[in-house]
Amino acid sequence: MKKTKKLVSLLLIIALMATLAIGCTKEEPVIEDVPEVEDAPIVEESPEVEEDLNITTDVVVIGSGGAGLTAALEAKSAGKDVIIVEKMSIVGGNSLRATGGLNAGGTPQQEALGIEDSAEIHYEDTMKGGYEKNDPELVKTLTTDAPKAVEWLISIGADLSDVGKLGGSTNNRSHRPTGGAPVGPHIVEVLKENIEKENIEILLKTEATEILYEDNMVKGITAKDNEGNIITIEAKAVIIATGGFSANSEMVTELNSELAGFGTTNHPGATGDGIVMATKIGAATTQMEEIQTHPTVVPTNGYMITEAVRGNGAIIVNRDGKRFTNEMGTRDVVSEAILEQEKETAYLFFDDSVRESLSAIDGYIKMGLTTEGESIEEIAAALEINAENLKVTIDSYNTYVDAQEDTEFARPDLPRKLEKAKYYAIEIGPAIHHTMGGLKINSNAEVLNTSGDAINGLFAAGEVTGGVHGGNRLGGNAVADIIVFGRIAGKTAAEYIK
Ligand SMILES: Cc1cc2nc3c(=O)[nH]c(=O)nc-3n(C[C@H](O)[C@H](O)[C@H](O)COP(=O)(O)OP(=O)(O)OC[C@H]3O[C@@H](n4cnc5c(N)ncnc54)[C@H](O)[C@@H]3O)c2cc1C
Repeated sequence: MKKTKKLVSLLLIIALMATLAIGCTKEEPVIEDVPEVEDAPIVEESPEVEEDLNITTDVVVIGSGGAGLTAALEAKSAGKDVIIVEKMSIVGGNSLRATGGLNAGGTPQQEALGIEDSAEIHYEDTMKGGYEKNDPELVKTLTTDAPKAVEWLISIGADLSDVGKLGGSTNNRSHRPTGGAPVGPHIVEVLKENIEKENIEILLKTEATEILYEDNMVKGITAKDNEGNIITIEAKAVIIATGGFSANSEMVTELNSELAGFGTTNHPGATGDGIVMATKIGAATTQMEEIQTHPTVVPTNGYMITEAVRGNGAIIVNRDGKRFTNEMGTRDVVSEAILEQEKETAYLFFDDSVRESLSAIDGYIKMGLTTEGESIEEIAAALEINAENLKVTIDSYNTYVDAQEDTEFARPDLPRKLEKAKYYAIEIGPAIHHTMGGLKINSNAEVLNTSGDAINGLFAAGEVTGGVHGGNRLGGNAVADIIVFGRIAGKTAAEYIK
């Protein structure tokens, strides 16, 4: 990699190296267990006396979540020099928090478990789940390439052999590690290991502030480190992978005032920077008002309980001890139903057999998120809810499982009875979870301008983009999105440079 030094002092270089090394520590509050970030790459060349740092590379990637890391690996494997800038002190963004799985239809992993599925059914579910507002071309790409995304992740070291079900999916297609362990930390760890193997630099605590655009093409970015030093990265292509904007309450409420006061499941860096930077140079956005709440978030601390708990058999009850919705409905519908209940929260309820089926649940128990009881009466007393009603609710639900038909709420999947003590409950309510809208891209991950033309040298992937998920994202489709479109962005950026 070529590094041109402009007026930069030896002290500044040492300070930058120290910043990168400090970036190895976990700083911002991340509730889940996350992989530690190891040594950040070090500037290798001998420093000169300089003031600002000017770096030249082929491709600069903004953001080190799943989309950014994936794009960087593909661009590097196409022979290009790549640098990633990440504003937080750790790698991974929201990708580190993903728990439930990665959706792909028609994989060998499904076949091994006797699950019949296909990219076509995945396509239909995604369009239906998004109320047909999705961009059909992008969904076609997502669903056709998702099995290849699983294959690619496995080829670079991932374990995705467990396959579960998340809301809105006809078949079990959410791929995750053995035993139902959280998918995000695992994938980020695998991607990070490969980034290190490929010697791709990640500049932590380095926030991209502007995309350089001249003569009708993108020329790189400017960024600043946490001490305010300006870094100019000259690049032939820029890949925006900055994630969504659920943690930017001002932006969210400007787009949807009904979400004022809602908490979020997102990491603090999900502030929509990529959208702001790209629109300044003429990029178009799409469906910005489509913002999703997740129904099962712990109100006291914003911790999201994965949909896989319901997928594996949990039900939701209110303070009367009664079910009130099809628990496997889409997130918007289940969120609305919870908001109609007393105190606008409800309880996710399950037994030991559900716990045994999903190792992520042991994490929730360890974190003290569950209320437990050896019997229905005991847990009802602990929750201070109507025990008699709860007993009737569970008995009826178990008869639906026996008959494989839910005559009350038409829940489509009834995987197991709730009859094995202990019993567990977690208080849950909706919080802002996913921003479906974002930068307008085509299926080559090129960012489009307001006339519908590709902006030369600008690519985007992941939650920063819009149109893939339409009016409602299905659980498991975002992790598929970041790998599928991250791969495309990396490859297309490399081809553009040729
Ligand atoms: C709690 C939780 C659970 C989830 N579970 C699932 C699941 O099971 N399945 C599923 O499909 N989806 C899930 N999702 C959604 C999914 O995790 C995200 O949509 C996806 O990971 C986003 O990936 P990304 O690479 O686009 O963005 P991110 O992973 O958020 O990465 C973006 C990165 O860009 C950085 N960045 C932002 N601005 C700048 C800037 N100006 N300069 C430099 N860096 C910048 C951020 O700090 C961040 O590290 C979940 C989300 C959450 C919050």
